[in-house]
Amino acid sequence: MTPGESRVSADRIRWLQARLLDHYGSQHWWPGDSAFEVLAGTILVQRTRWRNAELALTNLRQAGLLTPDAVAAHPVEQVENLIRPAGFYRQKARRLRSVSQWVTGNRGIEQLRSRRTGELRQQLLAMDGIGPETADCILLYVFHRPVFVADAYARRLFHRLGWQHGSARDDYDALAGTVQDAVNEDAEFFNEFHALIVAHGKSVCGKSPRCRRCVLRVMCSSADPGPDATGHPGSGH
Ligand code: SF4
Repeated sequence: MTPGESRVSADRIRWLQARLLDHYGSQHWWPGDSAFEVLAGTILVQRTRWRNAELALTNLRQAGLLTPDAVAAHPVEQVENLIRPAGFYRQKARRLRSVSQWVTGNRGIEQLRSRRTGELRQQLLAMDGIGPETADCILLYVFHRPVFVADAYARRLFHRLGWQHGSARDDYDALAGTVQDAVNEDAEFFNEFHALIVAHGKSVCGKSPRCRRCVLRVMCSSADPGPDATGHPGSGH
């Protein structure tokens, strides 16, 4: 395989999804009682753990600031104080404010649902502090669009599996485009797929992979040799 070449295919994507789902079960993402709570969560979880984002969401909820109207109307300093547990609270408060103003300026999330995916993505990316990963999480979990979130867990996994090589390892758009072109699935599929890849990255295929416990090793070109979780022989390097 030449640098940048991809071995991603619909069959492989579906195999990966099925294998992870079978092992980890449904992840029930993204938690939140309202579309705006999900939207706020995608910003608060940037560069921190979910439990810290949750603390910030709880503070916003208790203060009555878990609506776009409330965030847009209140002083940004008040939002900063409430979301301190999520870290980077100054930047995140401004991002929350920008996205809230975008929502209120367009008469709410329900009104925005009629827009095309490309248009929504462009508008999200135009906001300070919203990159491709956050934009795609918003598209997937708030607007229920079938997009692949090619975050660091996904890029590492696809690279280790031997399905995506070269500069594409660090290229968000290359992997996202490759996966979306390869498989024609709905938002429900991509919702679960992303959550499962994160679960796998956190528990097994992290910075130091635990290949001997991995249910993907039979298909993985980076697997450590040795007996695997299912009795398949390791594929070696
Ligand atoms: S076999 Fe190892 S490198 Fe391959 S996906 Fe599993 S944990 Fe990651």
